[in-house]
Amino acid sequence: MIPYQKMTKEELLKEQAVLQSAYKEFQGRGLKLDMSRGKPAPNQLDLSMGMLDVLTSQDVLACEDGLDARNYGLLDGIPEAKELYAEILEVSPDEVIIGGNSSLNMMYDTIVRAMQFGFVDSPRPWKDEKTVKCLCPVPGYDRHFAISELFGIEMINVPMTPAGPDMDLVEKLAAEDESIKFIWCVPMYSNPQGITYSDETVARFASMKTAAPDFKIIWDNAYCVHHLTDTPDRLMNLMDACKKQGTEDRVFIFASMSKISFPGAGIAAMAATKHNLDFVKQQMSIQTIGFDKIKQLRHVKYFKNIDGVKAHMQKHREILEPKFNAVLKKLDEEIKPLEIAEWHAPNGGYFISLDTMDGCAKRVVGLCKEAGAVMTGAGATYPYGKDPQDRNIRIAPTYPSVSELDQAMELFCLCVRLASVEKLLS
Ligand code: PLP
Repeated sequence: MIPYQKMTKEELLKEQAVLQSAYKEFQGRGLKLDMSRGKPAPNQLDLSMGMLDVLTSQDVLACEDGLDARNYGLLDGIPEAKELYAEILEVSPDEVIIGGNSSLNMMYDTIVRAMQFGFVDSPRPWKDEKTVKCLCPVPGYDRHFAISELFGIEMINVPMTPAGPDMDLVEKLAAEDESIKFIWCVPMYSNPQGITYSDETVARFASMKTAAPDFKIIWDNAYCVHHLTDTPDRLMNLMDACKKQGTEDRVFIFASMSKISFPGAGIAAMAATKHNLDFVKQQMSIQTIGFDKIKQLRHVKYFKNIDGVKAHMQKHREILEPKFNAVLKKLDEEIKPLEIAEWHAPNGGYFISLDTMDGCAKRVVGLCKEAGAVMTGAGATYPYGKDPQDRNIRIAPTYPSVSELDQAMELFCLCVRLASVEKLLS
């Protein structure tokens, strides 16, 4: 296989004809494949079925502190759930609030509260600022960007590097513009690239100067226990790093059991300093008297502690690792020698993201769709749905079976090749 950039025009035209006929053949197959859904496959959900049988009627009568889980109370969660999440997030239990099933919901509420009331260290509610801006490492998670867009928060792209966001740019922007109030981060096995922030990146987040006195780091640690290899990544503890610098009030950490137990019935958590949480709880106490404590108890009885969670995640790995390998193998075989795209082979998480040659992503996704494979929309990984170079495509390997993935990836690689040849000939 010769890299496409080194081919002559005649060679490219010949290659295009071969690819077009292979593509026509795919179109005739009537495929219905989907690599857009970042959700667990049904057999992953089966792993947690025991959780539905684990609780007896006696268990719910007395939580760790004697409270009846059936009744009102415990706004921030039952003590044993806070202890479990404290272990997972490496903070202390009094720095944890357990919410409902969705961490996205907790992040949304955090931004709504900031707009309406500000944080404990805000000079005024964010709605009373002339402009509110946030930093968005790109490519990133579309639903983070959707929250910012909904509230009219101006988004500034910060390119990702193999070590996390470009920290030179983050430091510069945060230090010079007081209307920049926060940054969205998925620090471990990032969505979509699967990159884990380096120790240096975390340390710089802790020590950087910010013009806004109430600057916040939204540390969405959605994939903190979602390892897929024997050499998992390790993420430095941001809260500890910030405590050393006296900047701990800038940290808000989020996570959930959505991809550990059930996305529809897991438990989500938020961690921050007691100073921050006391302020938040005043407002939360108007919103609810407490979340579902029976579900919290169910999770704690089933997993028991961090070791129980880790053992459970190993079972997820057994299902997911072959799927990720199937995707990576096809990319290595079909795309790598042609030097027409780049990707990171992740050690965990839920996605693989591919950068095509400039201006090819939309075309690739369109070609896939016309031949029966749905991909996440090109541009979705950027604020406002606009990928300035039109090159990033998110691949979600978790839901399809390995044989569906094999077919989908065969088609996907063909479309990447076809779009690249078209580009080079244009
Ligand atoms: N954060 C990230 C980075 C995600 O990728 C997802 C889901 O894909 C979520 C949050 C959603 O989490 P939850 O189900 O807890 O709302």
